[in-house]
Amino acid sequence: MNNFQYSRATDVADALSQIAADASAKFIAGGTNLIDLMKYDVEQPSRLIDISHLPLAKVEETTDGGLRIGALVPNSDLAWHPLVTERYPLLSSAILAGASAQLRNMASTGGNLLQRTRCFYFYDVATPCNKRDPGSGCSAKDGINRINAILGTSDACIATHPSDMCVALAALDAKVHVAGPNGERAIAMADFHRLPGDTPQRDTNLDPKEIITAIELPAQGFNTHYTYLKIRDRLSYAFALVSVAAALKMDNGTIRDARLALGGVAHKPWRNPEAEAALNGQPPTHDTFARAADVVLHEAMGFGHNTFKIDLARRVIIRALTQAANGTPQSQSDKKIA
Ligand SMILES: Cc1cc2nc3c(=O)[nH]c(=O)nc-3n(C[C@H](O)[C@H](O)[C@H](O)COP(=O)(O)OP(=O)(O)OC[C@H]3O[C@@H](n4cnc5c(N)ncnc54)[C@H](O)[C@@H]3O)c2cc1C
Ligand code: SF4
Repeated sequence: MNNFQYSRATDVADALSQIAADASAKFIAGGTNLIDLMKYDVEQPSRLIDISHLPLAKVEETTDGGLRIGALVPNSDLAWHPLVTERYPLLSSAILAGASAQLRNMASTGGNLLQRTRCFYFYDVATPCNKRDPGSGCSAKDGINRINAILGTSDACIATHPSDMCVALAALDAKVHVAGPNGERAIAMADFHRLPGDTPQRDTNLDPKEIITAIELPAQGFNTHYTYLKIRDRLSYAFALVSVAAALKMDNGTIRDARLALGGVAHKPWRNPEAEAALNGQPPTHDTFARAADVVLHEAMGFGHNTFKIDLARRVIIRALTQAANGTPQSQSDKKIA
């Protein structure tokens, strides 16, 4: 273990001034990812700035009918918050599909957005990894890449973003509120995480000197026709091989507004506007859903061990959309689409 300093931030301004003063300091919230990374020697912060006592743990309604979720709201509290279970059950389902109860009690909303990839080689400091050590190479491309990406990959990196919560937030068009040395700004969820390109060391468009203060959800919660479907190697305590957040606004048997986001397949929650457009105005049939899946996956590429994910993703998209259309989020039930 490397030596590091520890200090507790008293308010957001103090957190920002402490991080500005030390380029290799890190915020710590629940610590469920950062402490592991420090134990594996992947991260070596000179200082941990404890933000866990900042007043950012409220869930509040916004004036336009949406919800503002403080960055320090624990994942468990968010998943079971009455306003979330009632109006944004897609978000509840996604959070509850992740980790374990104990981890969700510690994990914060902000930390969940910034958790790092689970690529095996990223955690193994004896192997080359461009994300951990830029320019060293990517061990996963020709290695054990069962859990790696099939969409939006680059020569430099084929890692996935491991969060479940972020997939639902992407489908729901959330915004990330941040504060930094130049004031406050909001980043659309779609622009928050990055594709690896030739800078895989950067997961997000958050500046290292900024802090996440809140997530904002718009009023539209899709609380009738939704599904979060996560396929993984074990039923619990495992990251997604493929997950799909599907949310539909239905009107007399026609899809009026479709949202489709995938997890476990790319460096960021994956949305495809053309696939959503292909669903809008259509009846909720198997053919409609299969066409949308084809649009999402037309540029998908496997690397050997993970090539099965392309077919798996197609089937998960169709099943998730079927469940959402039927209004049976947990199973396909006995209702059948055409
Ligand atoms: C065994 C295991 C299984 C898991 N399974 C799943 C799973 O199936 N699905 C899933 O989605 N997740 C899973 N997780 C991940 C877990 O959800 C994350 O570790 C957790 O959400 C991170 O939150 P945290 O508050 O503990 O973050 P921390 O570990 O405290 O911080 C993570 C990163 O975020 C930064 N940070 C934290 N808060 C802020 C902020 N407000 N502003 C700026 N920077 C900040 C820190 O500096 C650090 O870089 C699992 C974790 C473990 C250990
Ligand atoms: S996929 Fe990315 S994280 Fe994994 S070894 Fe390659 S560069 Fe590293």
